[in-house]
Amino acid sequence: MRALVTGGAGFIGSHLVDELIESGYAVRIIDNLSSGSLDLIQHQLSNPKVEFIEGDLTSIEVVMKVMEDVECVFHLAANPDIRLGTQITDTDLKQGTIATYNILESMRVNEVKKIIFASSSVVYGEDAPMPTPENHGPCLPISLYGASKLASEGLITSWVGTFGFQAWIFRFANIIGERGTHGVIFDFIHKLKRDNTRLEVLGNGLQEKSYMEVKDCVKSIMHIFSTIDAPINLYNLGSHDTCSVRRIAEIVVEETGCSNASIEYTGGDRGWAGDIPRAMLSIEKMLSTGYDVNYNSETAVRHTVRCLIEEIGM
Ligand code: NAD
Repeated sequence: MRALVTGGAGFIGSHLVDELIESGYAVRIIDNLSSGSLDLIQHQLSNPKVEFIEGDLTSIEVVMKVMEDVECVFHLAANPDIRLGTQITDTDLKQGTIATYNILESMRVNEVKKIIFASSSVVYGEDAPMPTPENHGPCLPISLYGASKLASEGLITSWVGTFGFQAWIFRFANIIGERGTHGVIFDFIHKLKRDNTRLEVLGNGLQEKSYMEVKDCVKSIMHIFSTIDAPINLYNLGSHDTCSVRRIAEIVVEETGCSNASIEYTGGDRGWAGDIPRAMLSIEKMLSTGYDVNYNSETAVRHTVRCLIEEIGM
């Protein structure tokens, strides 16, 4: 069975490739290396079951070609930077919504019927109850990134309804871990590397979100994909609790040995426009499939800090 992984040279994609290979799949990766890197999949590139194609999903001609002889598509490629939407307003539209359309249309033409999609907790917007269940609605995202995820979900379910596709849509919490290339922990370590006397934290530090370790994330995807078989399978993926940005800053300062660094907050309830200060997904539905996480939010944070200190080199 050959799986296509879009964004397979990215942070989560590279772990998913490992998991797919472990499960016996042949894997074709398409990635434009905009935020991903061959370094993340170097260990797989000599594997005859892994094929890497450098290409951009915004070109439907490119996507049509990579879709040949594929049985399912794990669609992970996207602009990962929510903040970018405040400066360039068509990035998420092109890299998110249009790219998803190109994938679905190429699948339809090539008679590939199964899509697994990396969506996000941000589709729920900021007034959702916590923990947020999958059936919460209406979903009212407040970032351009969130809008592109919700639009992509809509396109996917419409291809299910119209063309007999089958979909697994996963709304991720914050995913962290080994090979991380962006996000709050990555930023904090880099800031301390530049100046070990102070750590600037965007917002008041009270932002509180749930964090899921990346191997938990890809293992839960594979578990649900291989055991749940409805036409549309919608699951939140996260952990049992939350961790505040303040606590993350303390852990980073402690683990980097920069205990004299002063933690300075820029103030305000959120890091940037479009940020959601408090988020926690209900994971009851995921748990009901028999998958449980190995890390809670704080242990995932500490584990990630240790991995990234080693990778970044402090
Ligand atoms: P990432 O940036 O490491 O991975 C995205 C990959 O997609 C990169 O390798 C990038 O080069 C590639 N890519 C981007 N645009 C492309 C295009 N037009 N054509 C081909 N390749 C392209 O990010 P990640 O954290 O691994 O995220 C993976 C997916 O999970 C994304 O869809 C992201 O929105 C979603 N997600 C991530 C998180 C998280 O906390 N990391 C949370 C919710 C959802």
